[in-house]
Amino acid sequence: MPIFEYKCNECGKEFEELVFGNDSQIKCPDCKSSKTSKMLSVFSASVQSSSGGGGLPCGQGDCSSGGFT
Ligand SMILES: [Zn+2]
Repeated sequence: MPIFEYKCNECGKEFEELVFGNDSQIKCPDCKSSKTSKMLSVFSASVQSSSGGGGLPCGQGDCSSGGFT
């Protein structure tokens, strides 16, 4: 079951919500406002950074400085 973090744009309340495919009706538990925005979870952010850093070793300028010619 996916749990997403949301933040209320009305009162600034941050809360977690279980989402079952339809996440367009998330309302703030405090002020009942529907003006909420989904925040990127820590889990997905860590996955992105780990997969992005495993590519070619171009971080030291070897690929862009003409070393491959
Ligand atoms: Zn709120």
